[in-house]
Amino acid sequence: MKDTFKHKGMRQQLVDTLIGKGIKDKAVLNAISKIPRHLFMDSGFIDHAYVDKAFPIAADQTISQPYTVAFQSELLQIKPGDKVLEIGTGSGYQCAVLIELGAKVYSIERQQELFKKTSKFLPKIGYRAKKLIFGDGYKGLPEEAPFKSIIVTAGAPFVPKPLLSQLAIGGRLVIPVGDDVQVMTLFIRRGQKEFEKHEFGEFRFVPMLEDKN
Ligand code: SAH
Repeated sequence: MKDTFKHKGMRQQLVDTLIGKGIKDKAVLNAISKIPRHLFMDSGFIDHAYVDKAFPIAADQTISQPYTVAFQSELLQIKPGDKVLEIGTGSGYQCAVLIELGAKVYSIERQQELFKKTSKFLPKIGYRAKKLIFGDGYKGLPEEAPFKSIIVTAGAPFVPKPLLSQLAIGGRLVIPVGDDVQVMTLFIRRGQKEFEKHEFGEFRFVPMLEDKN
């Protein structure tokens, strides 16, 4: 598993593309410039690793488009030490971005194959999540709540209540909501029962599914 100057150069071009598309957060851009995205894909796909596109990984899932990862990460406004919950570990790429931003990451994946693969892979390249969990993200992770931020990386047909209730006061939930197309939605918890809601553009994600297989 190699990371070369050629890869670094390609990453810098990707970062320039993301800046061109409106990503401004320096910490997020820095994380993307550091993380070897080509290692998160099966070998042979290096030509696809640093173009701004989603790409198939194991178990019919995808590694999210870099722009989407950057957009969601920017909305979270992570500060070092924040406790963050991710729903949909997938390849672990978004998880690595969160760790690079200094977050303590808990990440849930419902597909066992991906859970196992990513649990082995992330520490191998030096990214240590607080905890990777095999389970159903609709329930969140009540035993570790509250979270400063929660990020959902699959298309949610509705906003799961447990995720809102597991946010700290002042905490942020970033979730793509919708069936075929999803609207990127940010909730900020302002009080015990008060949530501020902001909607951003449309994105396309693989669906968030209930019940493990
Ligand atoms: N963050 C990932 C994106 C993976 S795609 C990355 O950077 O690669 C979305 C992932 O969400 C898939 O791996 C899918 O299996 C997972 N997923 C779908 N429904 C889920 C659920 N209810 N709970 C947890 N994970 C789920």
